[in-house]
Amino acid sequence: MTVNIDDWLLEILACPKCRAQLRAAEAAAELVCTGCGLAYPVRDDIPVLLVDEARPTAGGGSAGNSVGPAGEAG
Ligand SMILES: [Zn+2]
Repeated sequence: MTVNIDDWLLEILACPKCRAQLRAAEAAAELVCTGCGLAYPVRDDIPVLLVDEARPTAGGGSAGNSVGPAGEAG
C-alpha cells in the first residue's frame, strides 16, 4: 500500500504539533513529520493530522521529553 498524496498537498500540510513539513512514508501509509517525528495515518487517501492519532517514531534526537497533562472536556 502506498501513500497517494500529491506534492502540492504535502507542501501546504504542516505538522499540527510543531508546524514542520511532512513527508510521505513509502513503506507505510503515513505522513511523517520532519520536525518532531510523529507519524500521521492516511485513511482513504486523507491524511489524519491529529496529534492524538499520530504515533511517535524512533529517530528523534531529543530526549527527556515528557508527556504533558491531558485535559478531557466532557
Ligand atoms: Zn511535528
